[in-house]
Amino acid sequence: MGLKEDKIVPGREERVAACMAFGGCASGIGKQDKICLKNNERGFSQAGLCQLLPTLGMLLTLPETAVIVHGAIGCGSTGFGMNTSIRLHHLLRGNPNAKDSLWFSTNLDESDVVHGGEQRLEETILAVNEKYKPKSIIVMHTCTPSIIGDDLVGVIEKVRPLIDTSLLYSHCEGFKTKVWATGYDVAFHAMVHGFIEKDKDGPPPKKEGRKPGERPIVNVINLASMGKPDEVELERLLNAIGIDVVIGPNFADRETIRRMTQADLTVSVCPTHDDYLVHYLNTEYGIPCVLKDMPIGLENTRRWLLDIAGNFGLENEALALIEAEEAKVKKGVEKYLPALKGIKVFLSAGEFRALVTGGLFQELGMEIVGLRSYHHDDFGTEFYDRLIEAQKGKDFPIDIANFQPFELVNLLKKVDPDLFCGHVFDNAWAARLGYPTITIFRIFDHYVGYRGFYEVAKKAVRNLRNHAFNAKLSQNVPEAYRKEWYEKSPFAYIKSEAA
Ligand code: SF4
Repeated sequence: MGLKEDKIVPGREERVAACMAFGGCASGIGKQDKICLKNNERGFSQAGLCQLLPTLGMLLTLPETAVIVHGAIGCGSTGFGMNTSIRLHHLLRGNPNAKDSLWFSTNLDESDVVHGGEQRLEETILAVNEKYKPKSIIVMHTCTPSIIGDDLVGVIEKVRPLIDTSLLYSHCEGFKTKVWATGYDVAFHAMVHGFIEKDKDGPPPKKEGRKPGERPIVNVINLASMGKPDEVELERLLNAIGIDVVIGPNFADRETIRRMTQADLTVSVCPTHDDYLVHYLNTEYGIPCVLKDMPIGLENTRRWLLDIAGNFGLENEALALIEAEEAKVKKGVEKYLPALKGIKVFLSAGEFRALVTGGLFQELGMEIVGLRSYHHDDFGTEFYDRLIEAQKGKDFPIDIANFQPFELVNLLKKVDPDLFCGHVFDNAWAARLGYPTITIFRIFDHYVGYRGFYEVAKKAVRNLRNHAFNAKLSQNVPEAYRKEWYEKSPFAYIKSEAA
């Protein structure tokens, strides 16, 4: 099976044996039996994340689209929180008049649960189309209609001929998977089926090879969380070695997404995020792919560029660029290195981003002393070993957890880092403990490539120099948990079959 054939996207537990609960040494994660890891659980869980959230986050990026959340009112409520970021993204992409994203809910109630919600969904699609005339309409099927057996595809096929707009749908019921990252696959599934496979013009034909002298075209799969400055940096680097790029599918329109079927290579920016779409383009359109690195830090950016260049015989051009860029950025960060040397850093983020950022920090002379990742799958395994090797075999604890702040706070107290680097909602917990914190990325900052390397170094030094706010905060807030909890292992509630 694959993206084209899948009627419903399989959970990542099944598709890539992803794991949501593990605590132990970084060196242990690659040695554990995959099946045992996949079945790990928690006896107590303080938080969770439904796959609808990343799906919604990605689909709301599509320009002039309307999202209809088919379900109870609460399911779509995160759409409010995403408005600011979506508007800011569009602003950075040159649209100063960007409006709030359009999202609706069918707001199913008790009566609908008894009588079914299909009619309400049909009416909502037609009303949204009539009133807002969006370029695409996306229906997100949540737990309630799935449990009562609403026929989502039946409604979509009935309505499709009645409206002249692209109609996308996604099965993103939270109860079907514990691995929130499945939501990426669900969003890709919706985009591909809506804009390519079931589009009114049908799927585009396969490209007939490159003509002599034609510059190669590469798909760069962007992330909903990736800022425009990072896209500009990647485009700059690839253009400099003679490669043109198509960036999508987030923030891309129907035409751009269809154009992605005509590229000469697909390149992931984050393998964990992209593999489902990359494999579709490979299987259905024969487009080769590079799916293993994230261009963050010098070594990873070097590998990323050389892998791409190797597909077109452009290795010499890539090497010349890499050497020039590395020389420039190393000179630029020289002034920051004394302040960063030997700093013990703790990372918290999605697995791949946390791991490659760890490599960047090591290149700046820092040491990784702990890492919390929101899930684990095989794409990350070798990167744990790389981090350990880079610090001469010094191992560090890791926590695979879909948030679970009680584990994070306990682990931080035991590890006691000099610097914490995570997403804003993680940083709040570290700030309460008084640690200097930096946000792993913000959409208006540079983070990838050479510009990112410089900016991250600068940001780390600035926060290490002045973290008085966090220090004061820690003196004025109570302990988050009882002292008995800190006497236990942070992983006390993780139930492992292997154990
Ligand atoms: S778990 Fe189900 S009910 Fe809860 S937010 Fe997700 S889709 Fe909605």
